[in-house]
Amino acid sequence: MLNIYNRLPINVVKGDGVHIFDDNGKRYLDFTSGIATVSFGHCNQYIKEKLSRQLSELWHCSNIFNIPLQERVANRLVDLTFADKVFFCSSGLEAIEAAVKFIRRYFYTQGSKKYRIITLKNGFHGRSMVGISAGGGVKAKEGYYPLLDGFDEVITDDIDQLKNKITENTAAILLELIQSEGGVYSIDKDYIIKLRKICDENNLLLCFDEVQTGFGRIGKLFHYENIGVKPDILTSAKAMGNGFPVAACLIKQKIADAILPGTHGSTYAGNPLAVTVVDAVLDIITADGFLENVQENAKYFWQKLLNLQNEFPHFIKNIRGEGFLVGIEFSSETDTKKFLLKCLDLGLAMTKTSNPSIVRILPPLIIEKPDIDIAMNITHQVLKKF
Ligand SMILES: *Cc1c(COP(=O)(O)O)cnc(C)c1O
Repeated sequence: MLNIYNRLPINVVKGDGVHIFDDNGKRYLDFTSGIATVSFGHCNQYIKEKLSRQLSELWHCSNIFNIPLQERVANRLVDLTFADKVFFCSSGLEAIEAAVKFIRRYFYTQGSKKYRIITLKNGFHGRSMVGISAGGGVKAKEGYYPLLDGFDEVITDDIDQLKNKITENTAAILLELIQSEGGVYSIDKDYIIKLRKICDENNLLLCFDEVQTGFGRIGKLFHYENIGVKPDILTSAKAMGNGFPVAACLIKQKIADAILPGTHGSTYAGNPLAVTVVDAVLDIITADGFLENVQENAKYFWQKLLNLQNEFPHFIKNIRGEGFLVGIEFSSETDTKKFLLKCLDLGLAMTKTSNPSIVRILPPLIIEKPDIDIAMNITHQVLKKF
């Protein structure tokens, strides 16, 4: 295999609920959730049963046929969100690819010259050429030039700079609501409200990349609900499939009108197994009390995190994020790699961000208080010995 990942030194062979197991049978609390993906637990029983049934019905037939199941799941997403239409695909980068193409085509069909997309510095939108043209750090881009034309980066929170970037060619603004890979930076709510206003005034489309913040991670189906600002386009992936490769680009009708047969597509798009998983995930997330429980446990988790910060101010500079998307910024002299390895040794798995001093914690959304306590005791023990 290509040597492209900095892997943690355990061999993972099994997952069950909030735990993963190595090949020696040792158990770890999984506070990575497969990077915000296996949010509803490893080998989730309910999803497994639905998928097992579908495995005996139909795996794949391609989009040359009507697939009633696919239509039903799309309708559920439309009923639950701002969107009028759904494009299914298989990964976050494909959802971003679709969003960028749809933005361009929407303006094309209006006879407009608009095609440029404003993005935020420190953003992350996947590893395709579109993804690294729209975001990603130096390392993600190096050696891959020339990147795609049509992206203009601005720094967050500087409305004047953003306004100055808008030209007659500007088509859209694309951003994550919390920049996760970049170090878990929440984007200010007032700034997002202003972006919506600027888009409306300048005939621009607003696109939220909710690949990581979606499907309950911040206590709502999508984080835009917490902020109270609706986008025109939204990308979703990761937890949407709880580990099954599935993603979607959600769009308003006016954009959908520009996307006709032959203008986009993918072989696996809306594959019956994939949409079965989304259907099951939607059952879980919309069940009475599920998201309320997530919100309550996240609050409890944050209390514990702030206690930890108070006790170890020398190591912990800042705790960022919201809900179950948390970044702990350590002081520059703290060896975060050693911290992660020591925690792993004691049975707690966590991950980093592209910034080495920021540890990212992504507990499964089904985590309960006793397991939060266990995780916090482990981090406490490790920091005490540091
Ligand atoms: C993970 C991620 C992507 C890319 O998704 P892949 O499924 O890895 O292609 C895009 N945007 C954001 C915000 C992400 O967190």
